Order: sequence, then C-alpha cells, then structure tokens
Amino acid sequence: MLKHILFLIFSAIFLVTTNAVAHSSNAFERSTITITQSLNYDAKKANINPSIIKTIVRIFSWEIDFNKDLRKGDRFIIVGNSGANPSAIIYTSLKKRIALFAYTDQQGRTDYYDKNGRSLHASFLKAPLKYNRISSEFQRKRLHPILKTWKPHRAVDFTAKTGTPVYSSANGVVQHRKRMGALGNVVYIKHGNTYTTVYAHLSRFARGLRVAQKVKKGQIIGYVGSTGRSTGPHLHYELRYKGIRKNPLTYRLPKQKNVAHDDLWRFKNKANKILNSLNNY
Ligand SMILES: [Zn+2]
Repeated sequence: MLKHILFLIFSAIFLVTTNAVAHSSNAFERSTITITQSLNYDAKKANINPSIIKTIVRIFSWEIDFNKDLRKGDRFIIVGNSGANPSAIIYTSLKKRIALFAYTDQQGRTDYYDKNGRSLHASFLKAPLKYNRISSEFQRKRLHPILKTWKPHRAVDFTAKTGTPVYSSANGVVQHRKRMGALGNVVYIKHGNTYTTVYAHLSRFARGLRVAQKVKKGQIIGYVGSTGRSTGPHLHYELRYKGIRKNPLTYRLPKQKNVAHDDLWRFKNKANKILNSLNNY
C-alpha cells in the first residue's frame, strides 16, 4: 500500500516537472522581425505566419503609423507559439518599446494588452465638445440649407457658440489641419489604422497644432466657428471607418478593454516572466 502511494507521488512529481520544462521552453520560443524595408517584406523574409502580420498591424496601429514610424533596425519580437495568437509581441526601437501580451477573456476572445492589462484600443468620446443641440443628424438625404438641394449628410452637426473648445474624440495623430473648401477650417485625426474623425467649420485651430502631431482623447484641437459652407456656428463632425462615414451617435466603437480583475495577477506575472526572458536577448 505504502509503495503504491510513494509510486503515485513520484509519478506526480515527475509529471509536474516534465510538464513545467516543456511549457517554459515553449512559452519563450521566439522569432524576430528586423525591419530593413517594411513590416510585410521583412516578416515574409523571416517566415512569419501571415496571420501574425495581420495581428501586429491590428494591435500596434493605435501606437504606430506603419507607413511613417518604422525605422531600419526596429524589431518585432514574437514570443510563444507560432500560431495566429502568440503569447506576446514586442516592438522595440531606439526610442521606445511597446510590449503586448495575449489574454483570452471569459467569452473566449483573445486580444492583446500591455503589462498592466490595458488594451491600446482608443476609446472615443460620445461628443467632441459641449454643445447646445444637434442641428443635423446623420441622414441619407436632407435639404441643404444653403445649396437648397437634397444631399446626404453623413455627419452630425452640433450647435454651439463660436469659440467653444473642440476636443479630439480619441487618442490619435493629426492628419490634416487646414482650410478645405466647404468644410472651412478642418482637422482630420487618424485613430489606429481604421478610424478617422473630422472636425469642420472651426473658427480657429488650437495653438501649436500641427500635422503628424499626436493628440490625446479630450485634448483641444480647435474652436467652434462658421468657416466654409455654413449658416451659423456649429461643429460638423464625421466618423470614418476604413474611409466610410459612419453615424457617430450610433456606431459601435471599440472600447478600451482591461484584463478581468480575477485574472490580472496571473496575467501580470506571466507578462513579467516574458519581459525578464527578453533581458538576456
Ligand atoms: Zn454638417
């Protein structure tokens, strides 16, 4: 009987140790993309699974403009299995390091979070200013107040006093800041690689605002006015997803997500282990 129990204990210990060894070597398996030309080119050269390239663009585009920000020698380190969802993906350049870690939520959805368990997805303000009323909603056809013709209005017009501050509705990068025909003084802000917001008829721009500048959610980018084709002070606000104008009042925008509280300790622990393993890399 005793022999039996001892045997069970030994085999249990043996199983645990072999399992742990196999797991740790697997968890820290790595491949690296070193940028010489572009993410696509260099990832293919490094034999990286195409679905990982897609994941990289999706999760890092909130922080990296893949057309402009990458420099020769920048690296993406992929940690863990080589399937579509590796354990971690780490971007390193001379200037910064962005490390993102996989986490699967209780609904079975895997996404990437920083080491504190927060996603990079921008979250959006409901409205980019304090307004009096909505004077024109998103609609397929409306009688244009100046042109007197039926035109679609794929935007929302918020009425507010001239000079009311207008905020960037999410973290992003200024794409345009200029006078543009019927839109008057207008600011375009890019959020990640799929969303753009447009703020038109501004009386003036925020001091120092320039193209390619990074802006935070809630940062002042300009002031309400009536420049361009406009009958009175209001903000014409557009939300574009992959270039297509969506209704900003009803469109289901991505939310900033966090790792579930119950899983946070385990998540952080694993993230730190991965980061430590990279220090010798
Ligand atoms: Zn409008």
